[in-house]
Amino acid sequence: MIEFQHVHKTYGRGIDTLADVSFGIAQGEFVFVSGPSGAGKSTLLKLIAGLDVPSRGTVLVNGKNVGRLPGRYRPYLRRAIGTILQDVHLLNDRSAYENVMLPLIVTGHSRSAAATRARAAIERVGLSGKEALRPEELSGGDQQRLAIARAIVNRPGLLIADEPTANLDRDSARRIVEVFRAFNRVGVTTILATHDESLIADYATRVLFVNAGKVTDGGKRTPRLAGE
Ligand code: ADP
Ligand code: ADP
Repeated sequence: MIEFQHVHKTYGRGIDTLADVSFGIAQGEFVFVSGPSGAGKSTLLKLIAGLDVPSRGTVLVNGKNVGRLPGRYRPYLRRAIGTILQDVHLLNDRSAYENVMLPLIVTGHSRSAAATRARAAIERVGLSGKEALRPEELSGGDQQRLAIARAIVNRPGLLIADEPTANLDRDSARRIVEVFRAFNRVGVTTILATHDESLIADYATRVLFVNAGKVTDGGKRTPRLAGE
């Protein structure tokens, strides 16, 4: 589903943030992208989402070269990928419900069709009953749930999130990862970037380590907790 082929990413004239990076992610996988702050995790996610282009090399998503995608195909890519990036904010002057409705209205759904889907998505992330609240009235964990609902409401096959558990305590963080895992179980390929090694240690899942321009495939890990 995702293929990085000898990808380099350099900002300005600096050193390579990513240097000759190659890896693949298959449909249906659940992958953590790990590594220290500033290592290039966000850069990697943005390259997948088509929000940035490689300096050299190729990024394929669903067989399409994201870096060379003609402008008219970009909306399709945007719909195929649910993104939860750090700099994408919820609209604070609108209700949780309206925040989830918006991507549906933008993609041409009628209000009634959108309402059904928005309610279903809100239920899936565990926010039922909080539809009328504005994002700033929600807890940090619930704000993340809302961002997930908004990202998933157009039913993308791929979900990527950048540090979705930042600023959450360990229990809340784990519950948010469980929300992602529930979507992964129904077939959504899921990629989560986090610098939180202790969170990753809880899950038997594939980890890609980003450090010093390189991406190392840690493969599947043995979970720390029993019953995983
Ligand atoms: P992480 O997500 O792992 O914290 P980032 O991908 O945000 O890392 O950043 C990796 C490196 O690339 C950092 O050194 C950062 O300063 C640099 N960088 C990221 N985005 C830009 C940009 N738009 N312009 C210049 N440098 C950038
Ligand atoms: P409905 O058919 O009423 O939309 P569903 O129970 O089929 O309700 O789905 C509820 C919500 O969960 C959807 O609106 C969507 O946001 C999300 N969802 C369910 N399955 C998937 C999937 N395979 N991929 C992405 N999102 C999904």
